[in-house]
Amino acid sequence: MKLNPHYRELEESYLFTTIARRVAEYTKAHPQANIIRLGIGDVTQPLCPAVVEAMERATLEMSQAQGFHGYGPEQGYGFLREAIQGYYAARGVKLAMEEIFISDGAKSDLGNMLDLFSADNTVLVPDPVYPVYVDTNRMAGRRILFADANQQNGFLPLPQPEVQADIIYLCSPNNPTGAVYTREGLEKWVEYALRQHAVILFDAAYEAFIVDDSLPHSIFEVPGAEKCAIEFCSFSKTAGFTGTRCGYTVVPRALEAEGMSINAMWLRRQTTKFNGVPYVVQRGAEAVFTPQGQQQVQKAIGVYRQNARVMAEALSRMGIWFVGGENSPYLWLKCPGGMSSWECFDYLLSHAQVVGTPGSGFGKNGEGYFRLTAFGNPEQTRQAMQRLVDLGQ
Ligand code: PLP
Repeated sequence: MKLNPHYRELEESYLFTTIARRVAEYTKAHPQANIIRLGIGDVTQPLCPAVVEAMERATLEMSQAQGFHGYGPEQGYGFLREAIQGYYAARGVKLAMEEIFISDGAKSDLGNMLDLFSADNTVLVPDPVYPVYVDTNRMAGRRILFADANQQNGFLPLPQPEVQADIIYLCSPNNPTGAVYTREGLEKWVEYALRQHAVILFDAAYEAFIVDDSLPHSIFEVPGAEKCAIEFCSFSKTAGFTGTRCGYTVVPRALEAEGMSINAMWLRRQTTKFNGVPYVVQRGAEAVFTPQGQQQVQKAIGVYRQNARVMAEALSRMGIWFVGGENSPYLWLKCPGGMSSWECFDYLLSHAQVVGTPGSGFGKNGEGYFRLTAFGNPEQTRQAMQRLVDLGQ
């Protein structure tokens, strides 16, 4: 028996374990400390009533012989795919039902999609980045190139014509930086991908946080993207499904390579290796798209938006450079006084008892930056920012 040798090449992910250890050490030495965590990427608002009621109804249905649902369609139930189709249509993006696949979240499909592509491909990943893109490709032994995201390009790298890439990752609104591509930015990536015969894996997990109407929620708002892109989306941050698990992936029928339909390959992959998302969960996800559901999830997102506003105002008052927070739940700030990411972490923990995430944990370009998230409790977020403002005085 031989193992996949590429698992040896994975770097240990120390980021969140190191944060947890340093916070534990601090609280042991300072048991009275009132620590506020603005580092978490998980949501805190509960599922909205429309979702819970739909899941309750579906559970009751399952308790009766005539309403029982066993194995469902691997690509998801028609009722949910139709609701997603309507959601895209409202923004002018026409999708066929067969182009929509229900998943148990964006993370699984982002990893699983790589089944379709050869290990010989060169992958282009922005730096800093959501670590899943890098690790899933390292596991398959693919060559990885990095596109520098930095203060000069507003943490939104554009394609470099001399770089040859086959698989390109874009995440907008971005985790960890909160930066959001404009339509023109995405057009440049689509042009580049079409020219290179590359595929863009577009992560739209935070699209629901966009408030500026001029910014694209989906790469398919850009003409030509249907020939070069796959989009991953999730109910996790949109509707608090991080523990409930549901997402969707759009694989256009027009996307082809080597005479093969990527949509047909994905269907084949899913029907072979995946048995679908629970009926009860898909009914809950369907309720997100009802007028009531939309109003309720927007209310929860509104809480995070208000947190982000409070954070952005405090950082602006302190004269700290940052990006994000306006159309995204993440704020990415430059560590003041030339501190490194971990120095900033230790400084905020010991002087303000505020925990964030060191930017260096997301790639080399993250060094000297720091991520704060707006997913916390509003009162604690306000308190944390007041502590930072007080520190700066
Ligand atoms: N994509 C990005 C950019 C994320 O930040 C996350 C979660 O934090 C995910 C995908 C995973 O989403 P899901 O919960 O749907 O697997």
